[in-house]
Amino acid sequence: MSPGGDPTFVPLSDRVRWTAVLRLLLVVTGTALWWSGDREPAHDRTLAALGLGYLLVTAVLLLVRSGRSVTRAGLDAGLLLDSVVLIVAVHALGGAEAPAAALFALHAAGTTLLTSFRTGVKVAGTHTVLVLCLVQAQATGILPGGPDAGVFPSNFTGFAALLWATTLGTATFAAVNERELRRRRHDTEVLHGLLVQLSGADDRERVASLLVRFVREELPAARAQVVLAGVDAAGPGTDLVAVPAGPLDAVLVRAEAEDRSVLVHRPHPREDPWLARGWSAARGMVVVPLPAVAGRGWLVVDLGDGRGSVLARGLERRAVRALEQAVSHAALALSRASALEALRRAATLDGLTGVANRRTLDEVLARVDGEALAVALLDVDHFKAVNDRFGHQTGDEVLRAVAAAAVSAVREGDLVARYGGEEFAVLMPGTGTAEAQVVVERLRAAVAGGTTPRVTCSVGIAGGAAGDPAALLAEADRALYAAKAAGRDRSVLAEQLGPRSAEVGAEDR
Ligand code: GH3
Ligand code: MG
Ligand code: MG
Repeated sequence: MSPGGDPTFVPLSDRVRWTAVLRLLLVVTGTALWWSGDREPAHDRTLAALGLGYLLVTAVLLLVRSGRSVTRAGLDAGLLLDSVVLIVAVHALGGAEAPAAALFALHAAGTTLLTSFRTGVKVAGTHTVLVLCLVQAQATGILPGGPDAGVFPSNFTGFAALLWATTLGTATFAAVNERELRRRRHDTEVLHGLLVQLSGADDRERVASLLVRFVREELPAARAQVVLAGVDAAGPGTDLVAVPAGPLDAVLVRAEAEDRSVLVHRPHPREDPWLARGWSAARGMVVVPLPAVAGRGWLVVDLGDGRGSVLARGLERRAVRALEQAVSHAALALSRASALEALRRAATLDGLTGVANRRTLDEVLARVDGEALAVALLDVDHFKAVNDRFGHQTGDEVLRAVAAAAVSAVREGDLVARYGGEEFAVLMPGTGTAEAQVVVERLRAAVAGGTTPRVTCSVGIAGGAAGDPAALLAEADRALYAAKAAGRDRSVLAEQLGPRSAEVGAEDR
Protein backbone atom coordinates (compact mmCIF):
# COMPACT_ATOMS: atom_id res chain seq x y z
CA MET A 1 0.00 0.00 0.00
CA SER A 2 1.22 3.47 -0.82
CA PRO A 3 2.26 5.82 1.98
CA GLY A 4 -0.92 7.89 1.74
CA GLY A 5 -2.98 4.79 2.50
CA ASP A 6 -4.63 4.99 -0.91
CA PRO A 7 -4.47 1.61 -2.57
CA THR A 8 -5.20 2.95 -6.03
CA PHE A 9 -3.00 4.55 -8.65
CA VAL A 10 -5.64 7.00 -9.73
CA PRO A 11 -5.57 10.24 -7.73
CA LEU A 12 -8.83 10.90 -5.89
CA SER A 13 -9.86 13.89 -8.01
CA ASP A 14 -9.29 11.88 -11.20
CA ARG A 15 -11.24 9.01 -9.72
CA VAL A 16 -14.20 11.31 -9.12
CA ARG A 17 -14.06 12.50 -12.73
CA TRP A 18 -13.65 9.05 -14.25
CA THR A 19 -16.38 7.61 -12.05
CA ALA A 20 -18.66 10.27 -13.51
CA VAL A 21 -17.60 9.21 -17.01
CA LEU A 22 -18.32 5.58 -16.12
CA ARG A 23 -21.81 6.52 -14.91
CA LEU A 24 -22.47 8.49 -18.06
CA LEU A 25 -21.38 5.47 -20.05
CA LEU A 26 -23.77 3.29 -18.03
CA VAL A 27 -26.68 5.64 -18.75
CA VAL A 28 -25.80 5.77 -22.46
CA THR A 29 -25.48 1.97 -22.68
CA GLY A 30 -28.67 1.49 -20.68
CA THR A 31 -30.49 3.91 -23.00
CA ALA A 32 -29.21 2.06 -26.05
CA LEU A 33 -30.38 -1.26 -24.59
CA TRP A 34 -33.76 0.23 -23.81
CA TRP A 35 -34.01 1.72 -27.31
CA SER A 36 -33.04 -1.45 -29.12
CA GLY A 37 -34.94 -3.90 -26.87
CA ASP A 38 -38.62 -4.72 -26.62
CA ARG A 39 -39.63 -1.54 -24.91
CA GLU A 40 -42.26 -1.82 -22.24
CA PRO A 41 -44.01 1.54 -22.26
CA ALA A 42 -45.00 1.05 -18.61
CA HIS A 43 -41.36 1.37 -17.61
CA ASP A 44 -40.36 4.24 -19.87
CA ARG A 45 -41.03 6.91 -17.29
CA THR A 46 -39.28 5.00 -14.52
CA LEU A 47 -36.23 4.55 -16.69
CA ALA A 48 -36.14 8.15 -17.85
CA ALA A 49 -36.48 9.41 -14.25
CA LEU A 50 -33.83 6.96 -13.06
CA GLY A 51 -31.36 7.93 -15.78
CA LEU A 52 -31.83 11.65 -15.22
CA GLY A 53 -31.71 11.32 -11.43
CA TYR A 54 -28.58 9.25 -11.68
CA LEU A 55 -26.90 11.82 -13.93
CA LEU A 56 -27.95 14.59 -11.55
CA VAL A 57 -26.43 12.85 -8.52
CA THR A 58 -23.29 12.23 -10.60
CA ALA A 59 -23.07 15.92 -11.52
CA VAL A 60 -23.52 16.97 -7.88
CA LEU A 61 -20.79 14.56 -6.73
CA LEU A 62 -18.57 15.94 -9.45
CA LEU A 63 -19.14 19.57 -8.57
CA VAL A 64 -19.15 19.42 -4.79
CA ARG A 65 -15.69 20.17 -3.43
CA SER A 66 -15.12 18.53 -0.09
CA GLY A 67 -12.39 17.12 2.04
CA ARG A 68 -10.44 14.01 1.12
CA SER A 69 -12.18 11.66 3.49
CA VAL A 70 -15.63 12.95 2.53
CA THR A 71 -14.82 12.56 -1.16
CA ARG A 72 -13.60 9.03 -0.58
CA ALA A 73 -16.67 8.14 1.48
CA GLY A 74 -18.82 9.63 -1.33
CA LEU A 75 -17.07 7.44 -3.87
CA ASP A 76 -17.52 4.31 -1.76
CA ALA A 77 -21.18 5.04 -1.06
CA GLY A 78 -21.58 5.80 -4.77
CA LEU A 79 -20.64 2.20 -5.56
CA LEU A 80 -23.62 0.92 -3.58
CA LEU A 81 -25.86 3.50 -5.22
CA ASP A 82 -24.61 2.24 -8.60
CA SER A 83 -25.63 -1.32 -7.74
CA VAL A 84 -29.10 -0.24 -6.65
CA VAL A 85 -29.62 1.95 -9.73
CA LEU A 86 -28.43 -0.88 -11.96
CA ILE A 87 -30.82 -3.35 -10.34
CA VAL A 88 -33.76 -1.02 -10.77
CA ALA A 89 -32.74 -0.18 -14.35
CA VAL A 90 -32.24 -3.77 -15.35
CA HIS A 91 -35.50 -4.80 -13.71
CA ALA A 92 -37.27 -2.01 -15.62
CA LEU A 93 -35.51 -2.93 -18.84
CA GLY A 94 -37.21 -6.27 -18.40
CA GLY A 95 -36.33 -9.20 -20.57
CA ALA A 96 -32.97 -7.92 -21.62
CA GLU A 97 -30.90 -10.76 -20.32
CA ALA A 98 -27.27 -10.96 -21.38
CA PRO A 99 -27.22 -7.39 -22.73
CA ALA A 100 -28.42 -6.05 -19.38
CA ALA A 101 -25.84 -8.12 -17.54
CA ALA A 102 -23.32 -6.21 -19.65
CA LEU A 103 -24.22 -3.08 -17.63
CA PHE A 104 -23.16 -4.82 -14.43
CA ALA A 105 -20.05 -6.17 -16.10
CA LEU A 106 -19.17 -2.71 -17.43
CA HIS A 107 -19.58 -1.22 -13.98
CA ALA A 108 -17.50 -3.90 -12.27
CA ALA A 109 -14.73 -3.68 -14.89
CA GLY A 110 -14.65 0.13 -14.75
CA THR A 111 -14.54 0.10 -10.95
CA THR A 112 -11.75 -2.47 -10.93
CA LEU A 113 -9.65 -0.33 -13.24
CA LEU A 114 -10.37 2.89 -11.37
CA THR A 115 -9.80 1.49 -7.89
CA SER A 116 -8.30 -1.88 -7.22
CA PHE A 117 -8.68 -5.59 -7.63
CA ARG A 118 -10.20 -5.80 -4.16
CA THR A 119 -12.80 -3.11 -4.73
CA GLY A 120 -13.68 -4.67 -8.09
CA VAL A 121 -14.30 -8.02 -6.41
CA LYS A 122 -16.39 -6.36 -3.70
CA VAL A 123 -18.50 -4.58 -6.30
CA ALA A 124 -19.01 -7.81 -8.26
CA GLY A 125 -20.03 -9.48 -4.98
CA THR A 126 -22.55 -6.73 -4.23
CA HIS A 127 -23.99 -6.97 -7.73
CA THR A 128 -24.30 -10.75 -7.42
CA VAL A 129 -26.06 -10.58 -4.05
CA LEU A 130 -28.45 -7.84 -5.16
CA VAL A 131 -29.30 -9.62 -8.39
CA LEU A 132 -29.82 -12.84 -6.45
CA CYS A 133 -32.22 -10.96 -4.17
CA LEU A 134 -34.04 -9.64 -7.23
CA VAL A 135 -34.32 -13.12 -8.69
CA GLN A 136 -35.61 -14.47 -5.38
CA ALA A 137 -38.07 -11.59 -5.04
CA GLN A 138 -39.37 -12.32 -8.50
CA ALA A 139 -39.48 -16.07 -7.98
CA THR A 140 -41.41 -15.70 -4.73
CA GLY A 141 -43.74 -13.15 -6.26
CA ILE A 142 -42.70 -10.21 -4.07
CA LEU A 143 -41.73 -8.41 -7.28
CA PRO A 144 -43.52 -8.82 -10.59
CA GLY A 145 -41.83 -10.86 -13.30
CA GLY A 146 -39.66 -13.88 -12.85
CA PRO A 147 -37.76 -16.41 -14.91
CA ASP A 148 -40.80 -17.57 -16.73
CA ALA A 149 -41.86 -14.04 -17.47
CA GLY A 150 -38.51 -13.48 -19.11
CA VAL A 151 -37.50 -10.79 -16.69
CA PHE A 152 -33.80 -10.39 -16.12
CA PRO A 153 -32.00 -12.43 -15.16
CA SER A 154 -33.81 -15.54 -16.09
CA ASN A 155 -30.43 -17.18 -16.29
CA PHE A 156 -28.76 -16.16 -13.07
CA THR A 157 -25.80 -18.51 -13.62
CA GLY A 158 -25.10 -16.97 -17.01
CA PHE A 159 -25.29 -13.49 -15.50
CA ALA A 160 -22.93 -14.38 -12.66
CA ALA A 161 -20.49 -16.07 -15.04
CA LEU A 162 -20.37 -13.00 -17.30
CA LEU A 163 -19.99 -10.61 -14.38
CA TRP A 164 -17.25 -12.55 -12.63
CA ALA A 165 -15.36 -13.41 -15.80
CA THR A 166 -15.30 -9.72 -16.71
CA THR A 167 -14.30 -8.58 -13.21
CA LEU A 168 -11.61 -11.19 -12.64
CA GLY A 169 -10.32 -10.88 -16.20
CA THR A 170 -10.04 -7.11 -15.95
CA ALA A 171 -8.41 -7.34 -12.54
CA THR A 172 -5.92 -9.97 -13.65
CA PHE A 173 -4.86 -8.22 -16.83
CA ALA A 174 -4.75 -4.84 -15.14
CA ALA A 175 -2.64 -6.37 -12.37
CA VAL A 176 0.07 -7.25 -14.86
CA ASN A 177 0.39 -3.60 -15.77
CA GLU A 178 -0.23 -2.46 -12.25
CA ARG A 179 2.55 -4.65 -10.84
CA GLU A 180 5.07 -2.90 -13.03
CA LEU A 181 3.65 0.49 -12.13
CA ARG A 182 3.73 -0.44 -8.47
CA ARG A 183 7.35 -1.53 -8.73
CA ARG A 184 8.31 1.65 -10.47
CA ARG A 185 6.50 3.69 -7.91
CA HIS A 186 8.24 1.69 -5.20
CA ASP A 187 11.62 2.29 -6.86
CA THR A 188 10.94 5.99 -7.15
CA GLU A 189 9.84 6.20 -3.55
CA VAL A 190 12.80 4.31 -2.11
CA LEU A 191 15.21 6.25 -4.30
CA HIS A 192 13.63 9.45 -3.08
CA GLY A 193 14.01 8.22 0.50
CA LEU A 194 17.67 7.47 -0.15
CA LEU A 195 18.13 10.92 -1.66
CA VAL A 196 16.62 12.60 1.38
CA GLN A 197 18.88 10.62 3.69
CA LEU A 198 21.93 11.27 1.53
CA SER A 199 21.30 14.99 1.58
CA GLY A 200 21.68 14.90 5.36
CA ALA A 201 24.86 12.81 5.32
CA ASP A 202 28.00 14.87 5.60
CA ASP A 203 30.71 12.28 5.96
CA ARG A 204 31.73 9.57 3.53
CA GLU A 205 31.28 6.72 5.98
CA ARG A 206 27.65 7.70 6.51
CA VAL A 207 27.03 8.06 2.76
CA ALA A 208 28.53 4.61 2.19
CA SER A 209 26.40 3.12 4.99
CA LEU A 210 23.23 4.55 3.49
CA LEU A 211 24.05 3.20 0.04
CA VAL A 212 25.01 -0.20 1.42
CA ARG A 213 21.82 -0.45 3.46
CA PHE A 214 19.77 0.57 0.44
CA VAL A 215 21.39 -2.08 -1.75
CA ARG A 216 21.08 -4.80 0.86
CA GLU A 217 17.41 -4.10 1.44
CA GLU A 218 16.23 -3.19 -2.04
CA LEU A 219 18.22 -5.38 -4.39
CA PRO A 220 18.37 -7.36 -2.06
CA ALA A 221 21.99 -8.33 -1.56
CA ALA A 222 23.86 -10.40 0.99
CA ARG A 223 26.66 -7.92 1.27
CA ALA A 224 27.78 -4.63 -0.23
CA GLN A 225 30.67 -2.28 0.24
CA VAL A 226 31.87 1.00 -1.20
CA VAL A 227 35.47 0.68 -2.34
CA LEU A 228 37.58 3.76 -2.98
CA ALA A 229 40.99 3.96 -4.63
CA GLY A 230 43.70 6.46 -3.87
CA VAL A 231 42.27 7.68 -0.58
CA ASP A 232 42.42 6.59 2.98
CA ALA A 233 39.08 5.29 4.09
CA ALA A 234 37.88 3.61 7.23
CA GLY A 235 39.24 0.26 8.35
CA PRO A 236 37.98 -3.20 7.39
CA GLY A 237 34.55 -4.37 8.38
CA THR A 238 32.86 -1.07 7.62
CA ASP A 239 30.84 0.00 4.63
CA LEU A 240 33.63 2.12 3.18
CA VAL A 241 37.06 0.68 2.44
CA ALA A 242 40.11 1.77 0.51
CA VAL A 243 41.63 -0.57 -2.01
CA PRO A 244 45.38 -0.69 -1.33
CA ALA A 245 47.78 1.12 -3.67
CA GLY A 246 49.20 -0.99 -6.48
CA PRO A 247 47.68 -2.78 -9.46
CA LEU A 248 43.90 -2.88 -9.28
CA ASP A 249 41.79 -6.03 -9.58
CA ALA A 250 40.82 -6.75 -13.20
CA VAL A 251 37.08 -6.58 -12.55
CA LEU A 252 37.39 -3.13 -10.99
CA VAL A 253 39.46 -1.93 -13.95
CA ARG A 254 36.92 -3.38 -16.37
CA ALA A 255 33.93 -1.77 -14.69
CA GLU A 256 35.75 1.55 -14.66
CA ALA A 257 36.93 1.32 -18.28
CA GLU A 258 33.52 0.26 -19.59
CA ASP A 259 31.76 2.67 -17.23
CA ARG A 260 28.98 0.20 -16.49
CA SER A 261 28.00 -2.48 -14.00
CA VAL A 262 29.86 -5.74 -14.40
CA LEU A 263 28.44 -9.08 -13.28
CA VAL A 264 30.85 -11.77 -12.17
CA HIS A 265 30.27 -15.12 -10.60
CA ARG A 266 33.04 -14.68 -8.08
CA PRO A 267 36.40 -12.86 -7.94
CA HIS A 268 39.15 -14.58 -9.87
CA PRO A 269 42.00 -15.47 -7.47
CA ARG A 270 44.71 -14.40 -9.89
CA GLU A 271 43.06 -11.51 -11.70
CA ASP A 272 41.20 -10.05 -8.73
CA PRO A 273 43.51 -10.86 -5.82
CA TRP A 274 42.22 -8.16 -3.51
CA LEU A 275 38.54 -9.01 -3.95
CA ALA A 276 39.35 -12.72 -3.85
CA ARG A 277 40.71 -12.23 -0.35
CA GLY A 278 37.79 -10.28 1.09
CA TRP A 279 34.95 -11.69 -1.01
CA SER A 280 35.90 -15.34 -1.32
CA ALA A 281 32.43 -16.45 -0.22
CA ALA A 282 30.68 -14.37 -2.89
CA ARG A 283 28.63 -16.21 -5.50
CA GLY A 284 27.19 -13.76 -7.95
CA MET A 285 28.64 -10.28 -7.71
CA VAL A 286 27.90 -6.92 -9.25
CA VAL A 287 30.59 -4.27 -9.49
CA VAL A 288 29.23 -0.79 -10.19
CA PRO A 289 31.74 1.97 -10.95
CA LEU A 290 31.10 5.23 -9.13
CA PRO A 291 30.74 8.24 -11.42
CA ALA A 292 34.00 10.19 -11.68
CA VAL A 293 32.69 12.96 -9.45
CA ALA A 294 33.36 10.72 -6.44
CA GLY A 295 36.96 9.96 -7.46
CA ARG A 296 37.89 6.39 -8.33
CA GLY A 297 35.50 4.08 -6.60
CA TRP A 298 33.12 1.15 -6.94
CA LEU A 299 30.14 -0.34 -5.26
CA VAL A 300 30.81 -4.04 -4.83
CA VAL A 301 27.76 -6.21 -4.23
CA ASP A 302 27.43 -9.86 -3.35
CA LEU A 303 23.96 -10.97 -4.41
CA GLY A 304 24.24 -13.89 -2.04
CA ASP A 305 24.24 -17.64 -2.22
CA GLY A 306 21.64 -19.30 -4.34
CA ARG A 307 21.27 -16.35 -6.62
CA GLY A 308 24.09 -17.31 -8.91
CA SER A 309 21.44 -18.13 -11.48
CA VAL A 310 20.70 -14.43 -11.62
CA LEU A 311 23.96 -14.08 -13.45
CA ALA A 312 22.90 -16.46 -16.15
CA ARG A 313 19.81 -14.39 -16.86
CA GLY A 314 21.45 -11.12 -16.04
CA LEU A 315 20.08 -9.03 -13.23
CA GLU A 316 16.68 -7.61 -13.97
CA ARG A 317 17.09 -4.40 -15.93
CA ARG A 318 14.94 -2.61 -13.45
CA ALA A 319 17.12 -3.69 -10.51
CA VAL A 320 20.28 -2.61 -12.31
CA ARG A 321 18.74 0.73 -13.19
CA ALA A 322 17.70 1.35 -9.59
CA LEU A 323 21.14 0.28 -8.41
CA GLU A 324 22.92 2.59 -10.82
CA GLN A 325 20.66 5.49 -9.92
CA ALA A 326 21.32 4.93 -6.24
CA VAL A 327 25.04 4.78 -6.95
CA SER A 328 25.03 8.02 -8.88
CA HIS A 329 23.12 9.79 -6.11
CA ALA A 330 25.54 8.38 -3.56
CA ALA A 331 28.53 9.43 -5.69
CA LEU A 332 27.39 13.03 -5.59
CA ALA A 333 26.88 12.80 -1.86
CA LEU A 334 30.32 11.20 -1.48
CA SER A 335 32.03 14.00 -3.35
CA ARG A 336 30.17 16.57 -1.30
CA ALA A 337 31.06 14.74 1.90
CA SER A 338 34.74 14.51 1.02
CA ALA A 339 34.83 18.21 0.14
CA LEU A 340 33.19 18.93 3.50
CA GLU A 341 35.63 16.65 5.29
CA ALA A 342 38.56 18.38 3.60
CA LEU A 343 37.17 21.77 4.60
CA ARG A 344 36.62 20.59 8.14
CA ARG A 345 40.13 19.16 8.28
CA ALA A 346 41.65 22.35 6.90
CA ALA A 347 39.76 24.41 9.42
CA THR A 348 40.57 22.31 12.47
CA LEU A 349 43.77 20.37 11.81
CA ASP A 350 47.33 21.39 11.18
CA GLY A 351 48.24 20.77 7.56
CA LEU A 352 51.75 19.48 8.21
CA THR A 353 51.33 17.22 11.21
CA GLY A 354 47.63 16.35 11.15
CA VAL A 355 47.13 17.19 14.84
CA ALA A 356 44.72 19.91 15.96
CA ASN A 357 45.63 23.44 14.93
CA ARG A 358 45.89 26.51 17.08
CA ARG A 359 42.30 27.46 16.36
CA THR A 360 41.00 24.11 17.59
CA LEU A 361 43.22 24.41 20.65
CA ASP A 362 41.75 27.81 21.47
CA GLU A 363 38.21 26.56 20.93
CA VAL A 364 38.71 23.51 23.13
CA LEU A 365 40.41 25.62 25.79
CA ALA A 366 37.45 27.98 25.80
CA ARG A 367 35.06 25.02 26.15
CA VAL A 368 36.68 23.09 29.03
CA ASP A 369 35.07 24.55 31.99
CA GLY A 370 34.90 23.98 35.71
CA GLU A 371 37.22 20.99 35.84
CA ALA A 372 40.88 20.51 36.60
CA LEU A 373 43.00 20.95 33.51
CA ALA A 374 46.68 20.36 32.89
CA VAL A 375 48.40 22.11 29.99
CA ALA A 376 51.82 21.13 28.65
CA LEU A 377 53.79 23.24 26.17
CA LEU A 378 56.42 21.30 24.27
CA ASP A 379 59.28 22.83 22.30
CA VAL A 380 61.71 20.79 20.23
CA ASP A 381 65.27 21.40 21.36
CA HIS A 382 67.71 22.96 18.92
CA PHE A 383 65.34 22.45 16.08
CA LYS A 384 66.90 25.19 14.02
CA ALA A 385 70.04 23.06 13.93
CA VAL A 386 68.02 20.15 12.47
CA ASN A 387 66.84 22.39 9.66
CA ASP A 388 70.28 23.79 9.13
CA ARG A 389 71.98 20.41 8.99
CA PHE A 390 69.42 18.21 7.30
CA GLY A 391 67.25 20.67 5.40
CA HIS A 392 63.68 21.84 5.92
CA GLN A 393 62.14 18.72 4.46
CA THR A 394 63.79 16.56 7.04
CA GLY A 395 62.79 19.19 9.59
CA ASP A 396 59.19 18.73 8.47
CA GLU A 397 59.53 14.95 8.78
CA VAL A 398 60.82 15.37 12.29
CA LEU A 399 57.88 17.62 13.18
CA ARG A 400 55.49 14.97 11.87
CA ALA A 401 57.25 12.31 13.90
CA VAL A 402 57.13 14.48 17.03
CA ALA A 403 53.39 14.97 16.56
CA ALA A 404 52.81 11.25 15.98
CA ALA A 405 54.86 10.36 19.05
CA ALA A 406 52.89 12.84 21.12
CA VAL A 407 49.56 11.46 19.92
CA SER A 408 50.69 7.91 20.68
CA ALA A 409 51.73 8.85 24.20
CA VAL A 410 48.70 10.78 25.41
CA ARG A 411 45.50 9.21 26.67
CA GLU A 412 42.04 9.25 25.21
CA GLY A 413 40.46 12.58 25.95
CA ASP A 414 43.76 14.44 25.82
CA LEU A 415 44.36 16.81 22.93
CA VAL A 416 47.61 17.37 21.07
CA ALA A 417 47.76 20.60 19.04
CA ARG A 418 50.44 22.38 17.09
CA TYR A 419 50.96 25.60 18.96
CA GLY A 420 53.20 27.12 16.30
CA GLY A 421 56.55 26.38 14.60
CA GLU A 422 58.17 23.50 16.50
CA GLU A 423 55.98 23.93 19.56
CA PHE A 424 53.08 21.72 20.54
CA ALA A 425 50.49 21.97 23.29
CA VAL A 426 48.88 19.06 25.11
CA LEU A 427 45.61 19.56 26.97
CA MET A 428 44.82 17.01 29.64
CA PRO A 429 41.35 17.63 31.05
CA GLY A 430 40.58 16.25 34.50
CA THR A 431 44.26 15.71 35.19
CA GLY A 432 46.44 16.90 38.08
CA THR A 433 49.96 18.13 37.37
CA ALA A 434 51.72 15.09 38.86
CA GLU A 435 49.74 12.76 36.63
CA ALA A 436 50.32 15.13 33.70
CA GLN A 437 54.06 14.94 34.22
CA VAL A 438 53.89 11.13 33.98
CA VAL A 439 52.14 11.47 30.64
CA VAL A 440 54.63 14.11 29.49
CA GLU A 441 57.63 11.97 30.40
CA ARG A 442 56.13 9.11 28.41
CA LEU A 443 55.62 11.54 25.55
CA ARG A 444 59.20 12.81 25.75
CA ALA A 445 60.52 9.27 25.62
CA ALA A 446 58.32 8.58 22.59
CA VAL A 447 59.67 11.71 20.83
CA ALA A 448 63.28 10.80 21.58
CA GLY A 449 62.70 7.25 20.40
CA GLY A 450 60.55 8.09 17.39
CA THR A 451 62.52 10.74 15.52
CA THR A 452 65.32 10.50 12.98
CA PRO A 453 67.52 12.41 13.41
CA ARG A 454 66.77 11.99 17.09
CA VAL A 455 65.52 15.13 18.78
CA THR A 456 64.63 15.84 22.36
CA CYS A 457 62.14 18.29 23.69
CA SER A 458 61.57 20.51 26.65
CA VAL A 459 58.15 20.75 28.25
CA GLY A 460 56.53 23.18 30.63
CA ILE A 461 53.48 21.96 32.56
CA ALA A 462 50.87 24.01 34.35
CA GLY A 463 47.66 22.94 36.00
CA GLY A 464 44.64 24.38 37.70
CA ALA A 465 41.00 25.20 37.18
CA ALA A 466 40.05 25.51 33.52
CA GLY A 467 38.48 28.94 33.95
CA ASP A 468 41.42 31.05 32.73
CA PRO A 469 43.12 29.31 29.77
CA ALA A 470 45.35 32.30 28.95
CA ALA A 471 46.84 32.27 32.45
CA LEU A 472 47.38 28.48 32.28
CA LEU A 473 49.18 28.78 28.95
CA ALA A 474 51.33 31.62 30.27
CA GLU A 475 52.28 29.50 33.27
CA ALA A 476 53.14 26.52 31.07
CA ASP A 477 55.22 28.83 28.88
CA ARG A 478 57.09 30.06 31.94
CA ALA A 479 57.81 26.48 32.96
CA LEU A 480 58.98 25.70 29.42
CA TYR A 481 61.38 28.61 29.57
CA ALA A 482 62.70 27.25 32.87
CA ALA A 483 63.16 23.79 31.28
CA LYS A 484 65.18 25.34 28.46
CA ALA A 485 67.20 27.43 30.91
CA ALA A 486 67.94 24.38 33.03
CA GLY A 487 69.61 22.66 30.08
CA ARG A 488 66.70 21.37 27.87
CA ASP A 489 65.53 17.73 27.42
CA ARG A 490 63.35 17.82 30.52
CA SER A 491 59.94 18.77 31.85
CA VAL A 492 59.26 21.38 34.50
CA LEU A 493 56.14 21.98 36.56
CA ALA A 494 55.15 25.64 36.81
CA GLU A 495 54.05 25.14 40.40
CA GLN A 496 57.64 24.27 41.33
CA LEU A 497 58.88 27.65 40.12
CA GLY A 498 58.89 30.81 42.21
CA PRO A 499 56.27 33.53 41.67
CA ARG A 500 56.05 34.93 38.17
CA SER A 501 58.45 37.80 37.44
CA ALA A 502 58.03 40.45 34.77
CA GLU A 503 61.12 39.74 32.66
CA VAL A 504 60.26 36.15 31.75
CA GLY A 505 59.09 35.85 28.13
CA ALA A 506 58.99 33.48 25.23
CA GLU A 507 61.48 35.48 23.18
CA ASP A 508 64.16 34.57 25.69
CA ARG A 509 64.06 30.91 24.67
P1 GH3 B 1 65.51 25.83 21.30
O1 GH3 B 1 66.09 24.56 21.82
O2 GH3 B 1 65.91 27.02 22.06
O3 GH3 B 1 64.06 25.74 21.11
O4 GH3 B 1 66.17 26.00 19.87
P2 GH3 B 1 65.46 25.97 18.50
O5 GH3 B 1 66.45 25.94 17.44
O6 GH3 B 1 64.48 24.85 18.49
O7 GH3 B 1 64.62 27.31 18.55
P3 GH3 B 1 64.36 28.41 17.50
O8 GH3 B 1 63.08 29.09 17.95
O9 GH3 B 1 65.56 29.29 17.34
O10 GH3 B 1 64.12 27.69 16.16
C1 GH3 B 1 62.88 27.13 15.80
C2 GH3 B 1 63.02 26.76 14.35
O11 GH3 B 1 61.94 25.98 13.93
C3 GH3 B 1 63.08 27.96 13.46
C4 GH3 B 1 62.15 27.64 12.30
O12 GH3 B 1 62.80 27.77 11.06
C5 GH3 B 1 61.82 26.20 12.54
N1 GH3 B 1 60.51 25.90 12.10
C6 GH3 B 1 59.37 26.48 12.51
N2 GH3 B 1 58.33 25.92 11.85
C7 GH3 B 1 58.84 25.00 11.00
C8 GH3 B 1 58.28 24.10 10.06
O13 GH3 B 1 57.07 24.05 9.87
N3 GH3 B 1 59.09 23.28 9.36
C9 GH3 B 1 60.44 23.32 9.57
N4 GH3 B 1 61.20 22.49 8.87
N5 GH3 B 1 61.00 24.15 10.42
C10 GH3 B 1 60.22 24.99 11.14
MG1 MG C 1 60.46 27.47 19.69
MG1 MG D 1 62.92 24.83 19.82
